[in-house]
Amino acid sequence: MIDTTPLVEVARPAGENLQFIPRRFQAGGRLQIADSVGIQNTFISTCVLCGGVIVGEEATLEHPLPQWLHKYAGDMGDRKASAFRVSETIQPTWRQLSLSSHKECNRLFARKLEDPSITAIKAMVEGRRLTWTQLDAAFDWLDKIKSASAHMAIALRSHNLRLGYEDISFPNKRVGAFDRLALIYRLSEGTPPLDLWDCLNDGFLTTPTAITLRVKDLVIVYASNNYLLSAAFGLGSYLMQNNSATYIPGTGTFAPGFGTRFCRIPPAKILAQPMRRQHQKEGLLDNNPALQENGDGRVYELVGSRWTRVRGCDFSALPRLNSRLGYALAALETVEWIILSKEQDYGRYGTPESFFLKSLPVLQNEKRGLIELVSTLRGGLTMPESDRITDLTFNPGGRDAPRA
Ligand SMILES: [Zn+2]
Repeated sequence: MIDTTPLVEVARPAGENLQFIPRRFQAGGRLQIADSVGIQNTFISTCVLCGGVIVGEEATLEHPLPQWLHKYAGDMGDRKASAFRVSETIQPTWRQLSLSSHKECNRLFARKLEDPSITAIKAMVEGRRLTWTQLDAAFDWLDKIKSASAHMAIALRSHNLRLGYEDISFPNKRVGAFDRLALIYRLSEGTPPLDLWDCLNDGFLTTPTAITLRVKDLVIVYASNNYLLSAAFGLGSYLMQNNSATYIPGTGTFAPGFGTRFCRIPPAKILAQPMRRQHQKEGLLDNNPALQENGDGRVYELVGSRWTRVRGCDFSALPRLNSRLGYALAALETVEWIILSKEQDYGRYGTPESFFLKSLPVLQNEKRGLIELVSTLRGGLTMPESDRITDLTFNPGGRDAPRA
């Protein structure tokens, strides 16, 4: 699978309406999964890595969070994974969280993606130095975790959502396809030493733009989406013009910061990498210093308000936040990135009926609750409701919806 087609093949807009193809993720371990009727009537079981059909003996099990990580975080395999607690009766352990995959996909992902990332993730957790190619490998690995965890969540929620999957919904083609960024810091105390932010949240109706992963005391808020860094690095993007989406090449001018929203955790280490390989293949050319010749981006760190190119990156002096505040801010950042990208996707190709917009009210509620919590944890110090640099009023039902 990943041998015959490159990891990056398609980068289609999320709002495209495609024919519904029922896909069925088979969970491993001893989980009880109740499929919806629509899914029960399909014969196919889907590989979580490539989205292809699995025929009997080809299957093996893929863990969204790998077993080496369970062990590294402190023998977490047999501990309950709170992020995937569905009910009193369905409380899987980290080891139980697994989905069917092709044996060959599993082998190739281990060799090409998992193995190169292990040293990188451990160096990050242990406060050592990483080269930019190691950061690139770690970002690929986080792309895979984000995508596979979303599928795990869908399987655990009984497939009651009729999602229109396409190839880009699966790690095989999603890894490395979109612009990506990470906010990294440490927590001063508290458990558990392995955690993912709230994967059963309604914001995860489709593969979410952002997740938060905790390994020991390290927290990584990770976000990736098509064109997410267009404003930050002056790269091209689609804009709606005369009712049709038109590609507007970038100016090449870097913004101070993200150019879209300000970060709620300014002391965090902030890294970003634009990814435009597929866009180049499609002839969407941007002559931009942030891109290599093949369209993959270089890695940048936000120092003050300036993007500085990273050739090696030191993790020995990360900021440390107290555990409750660190968690609340991670959740808030995650929600903010998901909201921003839904609004941007809507501006590019959405309609008021777009499926991906349905979780927006839930996310906005959650955001308000988290802002209150952060303010309480900071002894009443408030933070602004809006995180936006350019003030856009989002109004999916009206005529003046933003064209992000
Ligand atoms: Zn496969």
